[in-house]
Amino acid sequence: MALEDFKILSEICSLDSMIQKHMVNIESERLRITQLSNARNVKQSEIESEQKLIKENRQKLSALENQLAHDEQVLSRARENLSNATTEREATGLQHEVDIFAPKISQLEDKILELIEQMEKSESLIKTNLGFLTGSEKTLGEIQKEVDSVVAKEQSEIDINNDRISNLESLLPAGFSQPFSYARNKYRFNHPICFLEGTSCERCRFFVDRQTCMSIDKGEGIFTCGGCGRVLISKYCR
Ligand SMILES: [Zn+2]
Repeated sequence: MALEDFKILSEICSLDSMIQKHMVNIESERLRITQLSNARNVKQSEIESEQKLIKENRQKLSALENQLAHDEQVLSRARENLSNATTEREATGLQHEVDIFAPKISQLEDKILELIEQMEKSESLIKTNLGFLTGSEKTLGEIQKEVDSVVAKEQSEIDINNDRISNLESLLPAGFSQPFSYARNKYRFNHPICFLEGTSCERCRFFVDRQTCMSIDKGEGIFTCGGCGRVLISKYCR
């Protein structure tokens, strides 16, 4: 390969490296949107699970309140009958009933309070998350505009570099296109061209026979590594 052809390949590789930097910039800009969207999704699913919890707790609360009303009725009837009891045996039985129901009611009241507190916590979390969703919707719109503008700028740089690459490719001798395209497709951002080091490929250490080494050094056409497929360059091009 002649020195000027090596320079063309080398310039294409530099342009590809620049394209890679622009692609990384685009990716990191898009990541800003993804991260905020993910955070919003997390808050949204928290809202949904808290809403589900509130619904379940409301049903539990209603059952406990019914139970409480029933037990309070039983207790008040027992107390009333106790004050009118005529025999010792009747009085003992009713007192026993009062002793059972009074603590049961107190336990029910505790459970009801606990449920109400849980529901208040859920409501408060939902309120906070809704606030985040409203605020971040505006931020998301602003970020999206910034990202769109940066991405458009980076993309236009990529387009220019691609055009330069196409023009450079057209300057290459016939027969270069196929092996170079193969190496570039496979190793676009990972050294599609590399030097012969002694009688081996600099990248994968694959052995290159003496005849091919001599042809490469003499600048005859284009040769690729039998191991990795990269275009091999003579040390005389260094
Ligand atoms: Zn190789």
